Amino acid sequence: MTEARSIILVIEDEPEIRRFLRFSLGAEGYKVVESATARRGSIDAATHKPDLAIVDLGLPDFDGVDLIRRIREWSPMPILVLSARVQERTKIDALDAGADDYVTKPFGVGELLARVRAALRHAVRIRSGKDTLALEDAIIDLEARKATRGGKDIHLTPIEFRIVACLAKHLGMVVTQRQLLREVWGPTHVTATHYLRIYMKQLRDKLEIDPVRPRHFITETGVGYRLVADDETT
Ligand code: CA
Repeated sequence: MTEARSIILVIEDEPEIRRFLRFSLGAEGYKVVESATARRGSIDAATHKPDLAIVDLGLPDFDGVDLIRRIREWSPMPILVLSARVQERTKIDALDAGADDYVTKPFGVGELLARVRAALRHAVRIRSGKDTLALEDAIIDLEARKATRGGKDIHLTPIEFRIVACLAKHLGMVVTQRQLLREVWGPTHVTATHYLRIYMKQLRDKLEIDPVRPRHFITETGVGYRLVADDETT
């Protein structure tokens, strides 16, 4: 199932990749608008009112990260970044500038479509304000701050709830370490990544069926974390 005729703006200078995206996204029923430069993309983002943008970071005229920052000044639409593996640092900068998720080149069509679906669902969820999460046998009510597992109450600390809430706001998408630290502990703690490792282990121990092979609290190595709920699995 796809969103009916969602418009996806592809900002990418390589014709081969644009063709691949046009074909793959078109086959799923999305309407694709293509821009080959950042400048053109910036205009198309304003005129076509896309539901989602896919932005390549290596653009010929100006930097993809700057483009994302500009779009974010006026648009809340989900932004997926396309980046080459050599651009790890830039990828994090792009996420911190307001991108919602990324796909690393070379990528497969399955991964790309899963990211697109998660990002579009994210936009819908923001509007609906849904705040209960199902993680297999665990249910987390973020508003009431209650968690149960197999029907029994379990205790999550206030910090643990804040981490889950922050990840849940971006369900199915990546949240950078910096974003999490800032939202949960505040701006003075953005480098305290060891906190995250400790708390993520606690959350997995409490909420994952197999904490060693987590299915919900996923580590994105060097970047951050991703929370995958039951209805996000494809
Ligand atoms: Ca490029």
